[in-house]
Amino acid sequence: MSVERLAELLRNSNRTVALTGAGISVPSGIPDFRSPGTGLWEKVDPMEVAHISVFLQDPQRFWSYYRPRFGMLADKEPNLAHRALAELEARGMLDAVVTQNIDTLHRKAGSRKVIEVHGTIETGSCWDCKTAYPLARVAEMFDDAGVARCGCGGAVKPDVVLFGEMLPEQAMEEAYALCASADLLLCVGTSLEVYPVAGLPEVTRRAGGRLAIVTMGPTPYDAEADVRLEGDVVEELEALLGAL
Ligand code: ZN
Repeated sequence: MSVERLAELLRNSNRTVALTGAGISVPSGIPDFRSPGTGLWEKVDPMEVAHISVFLQDPQRFWSYYRPRFGMLADKEPNLAHRALAELEARGMLDAVVTQNIDTLHRKAGSRKVIEVHGTIETGSCWDCKTAYPLARVAEMFDDAGVARCGCGGAVKPDVVLFGEMLPEQAMEEAYALCASADLLLCVGTSLEVYPVAGLPEVTRRAGGRLAIVTMGPTPYDAEADVRLEGDVVEELEALLGAL
């Protein structure tokens, strides 16, 4: 149950996939918004406001919640845990990153194969005419009511999966296929509690792959994990690179 053991599993794995969640972005200054009492969203329940029905019925309320979040995420930088995964990919030791995060930090860190199963803030799309706009452009599209508006008059929605929306089918299929073919699934910064992503370690296990979990706090897969590291994600992944 150590970094050395994880290094050994990685060296012996032909196909390793990383599965990441909010915990890997916390060292970049992005609070896990599902955790209660995390600053900016203390006073609202994200499940109530970041919901597709709120966007459709009251885009002003939706954007009053989402705009500061959008702005806060835009200027964040990847941390050493993101960079460690990019480094593993560059060394040919990691095939892909499947992430629940919408913050684009894996790609900013240099990871090339990234499956964003909850979408990304990188673009926003007009609900009516479907035109997609890059993040910087969306930031300039707000009307006096604080709603991002397309030239056609439609409200622009960030291309992230809101509560009440399905996960993107293609990304999930890709994630399932990657996890089914992985010799090793390296879970980083995720409590593995939110379905359907929480079912992915089971896909790897059933196909005979191993499981490594690097995250603070318990997960439903702790008993099945071949390696379980509970320290800070940056320190653990730095140590892993050092042990390889
Ligand atoms: Zn439009």
